[in-house]
Amino acid sequence: MITASSSQTIFALATGAGRAAIAIIRVSGAESGQILKTLIRGSLTPKRASLKKIIHHDEVLDHAVVLWLPGPNSYTGEDGFELHLHAGPAIIARVADALTDLGARPAEPGEFTKRAVQKGRMDLIQAEAIADLVDSETESQRKQALEQANGALSNLYNSWAERLRLVLANQEALIDFPDEDLPPEVEDALRAEIDALHHEMSEHLTDQRGELMRQGLTVVIAGSPNVGKSSLLNSLSGYDAAIVTHRAGTTRDAIAVDWVLEGVRVRLIDTAGLRETEDEIEAEGIRRALFHVKQADIVLHLIGPDEELTSLSSEEVAIRTKIDLSPAPENMLGISTETGLGLKELRNLLKEKISSLMAGSGTPPLTRARHRAGIQESVVHLERAQKATWPELRGEELRLSMHALGRLTGHVDVESLLDAIFGQFCIGK
Ligand code: GDP
Repeated sequence: MITASSSQTIFALATGAGRAAIAIIRVSGAESGQILKTLIRGSLTPKRASLKKIIHHDEVLDHAVVLWLPGPNSYTGEDGFELHLHAGPAIIARVADALTDLGARPAEPGEFTKRAVQKGRMDLIQAEAIADLVDSETESQRKQALEQANGALSNLYNSWAERLRLVLANQEALIDFPDEDLPPEVEDALRAEIDALHHEMSEHLTDQRGELMRQGLTVVIAGSPNVGKSSLLNSLSGYDAAIVTHRAGTTRDAIAVDWVLEGVRVRLIDTAGLRETEDEIEAEGIRRALFHVKQADIVLHLIGPDEELTSLSSEEVAIRTKIDLSPAPENMLGISTETGLGLKELRNLLKEKISSLMAGSGTPPLTRARHRAGIQESVVHLERAQKATWPELRGEELRLSMHALGRLTGHVDVESLLDAIFGQFCIGK
């Protein structure tokens, strides 16, 4: 098996496949300069666009705008270049062949960004944000990914890691020099700082915004059969996704429609009507409906004209349907998909709910399960440090807590710990 070498020069089509005016091929690696020279029969000023003939084996393959992007201040940190070609598939194929011929190989998925991380151009959290930026479909996803790519979340984690480093430095000093005259406040300050960090990180874990924005949130429409659930899904989403009939029990499986409200991706789910049934397929639909209700961020619980309001959980919003037939009781939102009455109010109510779910604490939110797991691990070690009676054990837990944070950004750095220890105390031994 041939394994891809991380030192080899790589290339990839950076623009999408399909009919387009321009295709960009990106190249990165130590041999980029030599390869470019061969292809354009000359050299270029860095970061300046120039129109050049791309020549291989004495044949002109295309006229392209070429950018020479030498490291270390390039995306990957390596030497690289870009060819802005005409997007014909035959041109792209010939240029790819030429690059291979000259010693480059096709890049693996994410390899440019992986190299950027390895060269210290960005950390892991920023690299994840680049992937999110490319995938962003809504305004809130774009903003969040851009902030994260600019280092907002990394800065938060680095500042916690830095504070932990100082706590650890103090702890190490208490362990190593128990007889020296370290002021008693050192121990108190150390405990207070561990408590403060524990509090801040635990708060961060309760913040769901990042994951909600990235993955979108779920709004489930639930209620008895025939209450008007499918009609509401169709009205809100603007097209006939669900079948509407007067026959009860028509919606067997959940129907999902993706929707954007307030710049946030919303998955709107219509579920099977909740009722007692002998029908096996309908019963399965109801089981799935209850599952969706449990997972939902917001549940719109529809109530028909001849139904009583049952007790609702805090995520559930009661909505009276078919108000063209009879009015909604006071203090309950009423809608009619027949006349459109109340739908604007319902949209506004959803917008408010979404805004309050997205309301944050001012710190950047975590966006992935990996971040949550890392912070959780860090918090567990802080809790153990809080309880540890032996200073050595507390030191070890602090170290593990700091490492859990370091793994998140990809910086686990023992040298800087040593610097913090010796720098702060001027021990001179
Ligand atoms: P579901 O079983 O809860 O999904 O309900 P449907 O959306 O399929 O609607 C059941 C029946 O109620 C259909 O005949 C709809 O035309 C009717 N319906 C739905 N919404 C309204 C409404 O706002 N007013 C009136 N009068 N009828 C409605």
